[in-house]
Amino acid sequence: MIERRSCASVRGVVRSSAEHMQIADQKAVTIHYTLKDDGGTVLDSSKGREPLGYLQGAGNIVPGLEKALAGKAAGESVQVTLTPEEGYGMRDDKNVRNVPLRKLSDKKVTVGMQCQLRTSDGIQIATVTAVRGDYATVDLNHPLAGMKLHFEVEVVAVRDATPEELTHGHIHEPGSHHH
Ligand SMILES: [Zn+2]
Repeated sequence: MIERRSCASVRGVVRSSAEHMQIADQKAVTIHYTLKDDGGTVLDSSKGREPLGYLQGAGNIVPGLEKALAGKAAGESVQVTLTPEEGYGMRDDKNVRNVPLRKLSDKKVTVGMQCQLRTSDGIQIATVTAVRGDYATVDLNHPLAGMKLHFEVEVVAVRDATPEELTHGHIHEPGSHHH
């Protein structure tokens, strides 16, 4: 009798910990988020869209947000302000370069447009900041580099990632990376 009781209580603990699974490395996490700048302007939000799915511990989201979400469970909310270092890093003037227009795009290159640029670090997103003659000035810094980030996050779901997701380093769900 004593053994049966203890078995039942162990099962109970397991079930309740699955319902309240906490965010940790190798968990597949789904969140709704709103990102604001220092002035309260919304820079990005998942509201009105599918929630964002990501793999915790894989660098899918900025490091400060991973840290703030660790240990949270579905239904919990987090408000956190991240320094640029915890977010998209500081701006680096070395990431502002002059490149020949032909290396950017076949189409007309205009100020403000974003192009893919092949660099020694691989393909990077370049924002065109000026066009002079046959050259454009491009900024390879992340658009949110150097900014303090104010996040409001609601944890929608937490589950174990599949072996395939762990191999790929991202999760396979609507709203996440598509192949
Ligand atoms: Zn994949």
